[in-house]
Amino acid sequence: MKNPSRFRTFVAGFTRLIERAGSDESRIFNEGGALLADLVSHDDWLPPACAQPHPQYYQQYLLYCDPLERFSVVSFVWGPGQKTPVHDHTVWGMVGMMRGAEVCRRFSRPAFGKPMQASEPEQLLPGRVDRVSPAVGDIHEVANAHDDCISISIHVYGANIGAVKRHVFDAATGAEKPFVSGYSSAMIPNFWDRSAEVRAML
Ligand code: FE
Repeated sequence: MKNPSRFRTFVAGFTRLIERAGSDESRIFNEGGALLADLVSHDDWLPPACAQPHPQYYQQYLLYCDPLERFSVVSFVWGPGQKTPVHDHTVWGMVGMMRGAEVCRRFSRPAFGKPMQASEPEQLLPGRVDRVSPAVGDIHEVANAHDDCISISIHVYGANIGAVKRHVFDAATGAEKPFVSGYSSAMIPNFWDRSAEVRAML
């Protein structure tokens, strides 16, 4: 982790935004999206422990959770060819691409017993931010765009996302099942050890 101050600055900025914006989603998307775009256009701050792929499953490492659970920040690490099921979020979310690329397809709300309508696949490239929420479209399927390398995106959600009751869908039938994602690690990284810079000023 060469530049942990970048993430501390992001968390401070996002906390100030949430204080001001409350539940004003378009303001969170606009101003928070700019903060996230800036964060992911610099790939010099993510601890290696939160950039580790798993041979079978995409990984979700919690980087920070607001004490009032108004937002959380997660690194998503995609092994070659890995993808999510079709799923929803139930809260606002932003996906900032940092390393590699993702492919996303959006889905319509299911109508009982009918196949779900899917959008054309869209690529998310480094430095770009995608949005989800019940208001702007909440159901999608996301995959690593690469079959031969790892991709990493940084996600911000309007809740402690690992503990939110959500749904996965069978796109062929529209059937839904409840799911709670959890997190891939029991630990969160320490971005707040600033002792070296303070000692240097002794
Ligand atoms: Fe998602």
